[in-house]
Amino acid sequence: MEGAKLRVLKIVDGTIVDGPGLRTSIYFAGCSHHCEGCHNPQSWDAAGGTPMSVSEIMAVIDDNEMDVTFTGGDPLMQIEALLPLAQTVKEHGYNLWVYTGYTIEEIQASESLRRVLDYADTVVDGRFVQGLRDISLRFRGSSNQRIIDVKSLKSY
Ligand code: SF4
Repeated sequence: MEGAKLRVLKIVDGTIVDGPGLRTSIYFAGCSHHCEGCHNPQSWDAAGGTPMSVSEIMAVIDDNEMDVTFTGGDPLMQIEALLPLAQTVKEHGYNLWVYTGYTIEEIQASESLRRVLDYADTVVDGRFVQGLRDISLRFRGSSNQRIIDVKSLKSY
């Protein structure tokens, strides 16, 4: 059975800025972190974007045949609907990066959020901190944010 729909702002084909290689980046609507200096405040509205089913999103991903990044907004705001998509992305053999405003410690401490670690290969964590903004950083906006290899986590 098809799960709940996800609210998607846009899907970008072939980006090189959201992880290694050419990737399909899915921008999910909704973010409650409201970081000062956010690059994308129009993404904050959880009711924004277009509702899409897992199979509709997977059709785009499979057509592109590129690895996948979830970003936004904060994809984890839609965790229940996101998990079936994350599972399917992995079942189809793609590498999966997940950008989130939560820290990895917050994710690990949350019964609901930590389930994404069953599927994500890499998590880029933490809120954007304007005072720590550094344009020389690859794949992240401020130096507090970390690129975390999920396999390297001892337990979650
Ligand atoms: S977590 Fe990202 S999308 Fe959300 S407010 Fe912060 S910078 Fe913006």
